[in-house]
Amino acid sequence: MSTPLRVTIWNEFRHETKNPAVQAIYPDGIHHTISQALQTQAAAAGSAIALRTATLDEPNHGLSEEILADTDVLFWWGHCAHGAVADSTVDLVQRHVLEGMGLVVLHSGHFSKIFRRLLGTNCSLKWREKAEKERLWVIEPSHPICQGLGEYIELPHTEMYGERFDIPTPDELLFISWFAGGEVFRSGCTWRRGHGKIFYFRPGHETYPIYHNGEIQRVLYNAAHWARPSMRKKDVCPNSPELEPLPKPPASFGSAGIVQSAKDIQ
Ligand code: ZN
Repeated sequence: MSTPLRVTIWNEFRHETKNPAVQAIYPDGIHHTISQALQTQAAAAGSAIALRTATLDEPNHGLSEEILADTDVLFWWGHCAHGAVADSTVDLVQRHVLEGMGLVVLHSGHFSKIFRRLLGTNCSLKWREKAEKERLWVIEPSHPICQGLGEYIELPHTEMYGERFDIPTPDELLFISWFAGGEVFRSGCTWRRGHGKIFYFRPGHETYPIYHNGEIQRVLYNAAHWARPSMRKKDVCPNSPELEPLPKPPASFGSAGIVQSAKDIQ
């Protein structure tokens, strides 16, 4: 098998501990469901993946220099506690993205400190929670993130996000959503910042079983592979010879399909 793709899934993990309706859909947390989905997709593809999760209320929010250096792609889900994320953690994640780590920001993560920091805009949008139908039109079917999909993904009940989405013009626009209420939204966007690749993907409201949908899971898996760094490198002045080699996975990281909590490796 090839070198495992190292993915860390970060989740605020607040709704799942307080709201029974969310608990019913994600009893172990959104991060756990996404981790299982990536594991299942990797197994089906015969691809090696090493997964860990991290949550807001762990020490240092479950993230550290060592963990991020050992992460190819970081997933980020947050909603009601963006302000509780320490600025020092935002600094750390930003630096790792600029040096090459991939970042996949999901749904209400549009208002996370790290997304707004990296994009430099307000990232505001229009929203409505009425369990309405959404069609995510695949507008770049040849893109690696869109592999295995049909012409569109249909979600019977979602929260609506509408334009204008206050983001910089994406490098690539992969999905445009249409909602039964009439709005449209740029639901799948990519950017590069420094050496890192960023993907924003809209679906994922906590009271709907979005991350149990197989096509959504396929997009997440494709995105993890697309965002994998081709190198890790500190930006240095031309007269400085310092380059950072790619970190080697520690023996404790585990092999394909092994899920570790960030706590286990601290
Ligand atoms: Zn939402």
